[in-house]
Amino acid sequence: MTHSSFNPPRRTLMGPGPSDISPQVLAALSKPTIGHLDPLFIGMMDELKSLMQYAFQTKNEITLAVSAPGSAGMETCFVNLVEPGETVIVCINGVFGMRMKENVERLGATAVVVDGEWGRAVDPVQLETCLKAHPEAKFVAFVHAETSTGALSDAKTLCAIAKQHDCLTIVDAVTSLGGVELRVDDWQIDAIYSGSQKCLSCVPGLSPVSFSPAAVAKIKSRKTKVQSWFLDQTLVMDYWADNAGGKRSYHHTAPVNSLYALHESLLNLYNEGLENAWKRHAEQHKVLAAGLAELGIKFIVPESERLPQLNAVYIPEGVDDVKVRNYLLNEFNLEIGAGLGAFAGKAWRIGLMGYSAKSENVLLCLAALKQALKQ
Ligand SMILES: *Cc1c(COP(=O)(O)O)cnc(C)c1O
Repeated sequence: MTHSSFNPPRRTLMGPGPSDISPQVLAALSKPTIGHLDPLFIGMMDELKSLMQYAFQTKNEITLAVSAPGSAGMETCFVNLVEPGETVIVCINGVFGMRMKENVERLGATAVVVDGEWGRAVDPVQLETCLKAHPEAKFVAFVHAETSTGALSDAKTLCAIAKQHDCLTIVDAVTSLGGVELRVDDWQIDAIYSGSQKCLSCVPGLSPVSFSPAAVAKIKSRKTKVQSWFLDQTLVMDYWADNAGGKRSYHHTAPVNSLYALHESLLNLYNEGLENAWKRHAEQHKVLAAGLAELGIKFIVPESERLPQLNAVYIPEGVDDVKVRNYLLNEFNLEIGAGLGAFAGKAWRIGLMGYSAKSENVLLCLAALKQALKQ
C-alpha cells in the first residue's frame, strides 16, 4: 500500500453538520501552536469565554468549551449534575432526546419520559402533567433544536414550567446556538451544551457548555464523586475560573488550534451580531422552503415549529434516497443529510447552518435537487 497526503475536495456542506467553515476560521487553525498554559494563550481563552457568554446570552461564570464534540457536552451536563437515584424528566421527540435518557440511566438515575411526537415540538402541557405526577423530579431535560426531525421547541416556556416545579433545566443547544433565538439567563436554563460544527461553523470536536449558579451549587453539593474523571467539572472549573491570575493548572492538554478556530468563529458571530445571524438563518430558510415547494417537496414539521437551520423533508414518492444524495455529491460536490432514526430512508435533512446559510448555497441546492429529480 502506498501512502500520500490526503487532499479532500471542496464540498458544500448542507447536512446536519459539520457545516461549511469560513476561510478565516480555516486560517485560524493553521496559526502557530503555542503552549496551552502560555500567558498569551490564556489571554485568548479569557476572550473566548466572553465570546461564548455572548453567544449563550449569559453571565454564567462557568462557561467553557469541553475538549470533545457535542455528545461530550451532553454527557458533561448529565454526569456532573445527576446523582444515582435522582429523577430526571426527559422530553423525547427525536434521536437526541433518546440519548439524554440513555445518559440518565447509565448514571443509575431514573428517567421519566415525556413521550412526544417525532417531527413536532415538545408539548408544554404534556411536560406540566408529567411534573405534577412526579414531584420527586429534580431536573427537566429537553432538546431545543431536534436535528433528527427539524423541530424547534419553545425552550423559554418549557424552562418556565420546570422552574415552577423547582427543577433544574438541562438543554441541548447543539444545533440551536447561533441559528435561532436562545437566551440562557432570561430563559432560566441551568445547564446547556452546544457543538462547534453546527451553526457556529467551526471544526467538529469542541462543545461549549454553561452552568448557572444554581447548577454549580448542585455540583458542589454532590454526595458522590462525578463518575467520569475527564468530564468532572469540579476539576476543570479551576482552569476556566475568572481572575484565575495564573491559577490555571494542568488538567488535560487543551486542543490549542481548534480553540483558535472556535475563537475566530465566535468572533465572526459577534461581529455579525447574534440577532442578525438569527435573521439570516430565517431568511435563507424562507427562500429554500419556497424553492422546495416548487419542486413538490414537503416538510415534515408544521411551519410554526420548523428549524430554519435544519430542513427535514420527505423524500418524494418513487425517488431513490441514496442515488440522489450520491448524485449531488458527485456532480455538485454538495452534501445533504440522510434521515435519522424513525426517518431513515424516508427523509432528507438540508442544513443551513452558520456559514452555510447563504444565498449561493440555497440556489445551488435547489438547482442541484431539480437536476437530480429529473434524472
Ligand atoms: C449533532 C448533535 C449532537 C451531537 O453532537 P456531536 O458533535 O455530533 O457529538 C447532540 N445533539 C444534537 C441536537 C445534535 O444535533
